[in-house]
Amino acid sequence: RCGYIAIVGRPNVGKSTLMNALIGAKVSITSRKAQTTRHRITGIQTKDNTQFVYIDTPGFQTRHSNALNRTLNRTVTTTLTAADVILYIIEAGTFGPADQQVINLLPKDVPCILVINKSDRVKDKAVMMPFAQKVAALHNFSAIVPVSATLRFQLENLESEIRKYL
Ligand code: GDP
Ligand code: MG
Repeated sequence: RCGYIAIVGRPNVGKSTLMNALIGAKVSITSRKAQTTRHRITGIQTKDNTQFVYIDTPGFQTRHSNALNRTLNRTVTTTLTAADVILYIIEAGTFGPADQQVINLLPKDVPCILVINKSDRVKDKAVMMPFAQKVAALHNFSAIVPVSATLRFQLENLESEIRKYL
């Protein structure tokens, strides 16, 4: 089995860090600076007869329309339509207009998993549920998975959700 897994979200939510953590190698550059990922980066992991083809994308740019931003955004939209499953990444406790704009791009006919990254930053776990439900109401997500890419928390869980669509 094999399948394409698109990783999308606004800049800086941890898309590249998550891809590296899932694959277990540093294939995509990560940084505190936005616009670090400028191309589609592909990483393949083979596990139990399954090939996971992860595609890390640039953060969707909502601020200005210049040539670089248009190129970055085109990369995001073309990746989405060619995926078997989409990982839509947000940061735990944070949801703004830039996150909403990425939701607006999600195709209706491709399964999409809501991934709440940086969950290590949330001290009071009781606030996670209402936050997740608020975001989940905005799109027909096939699953909601809180993770921490840096601590490698709940990645097995995410992988078994992904497997369902390959
Ligand atoms: P991208 O722009 O979405 O690809 O984001 P990056 O992967 O480059 O990460 C942006 C910043 O968030 C970096 O400073 C990462 O170290 C940090 N980061 C990524 N994942 C996590 C996480 O799970 N927890 C915390 N606390 N920080 C994270
Ligand atoms: Mg990146």
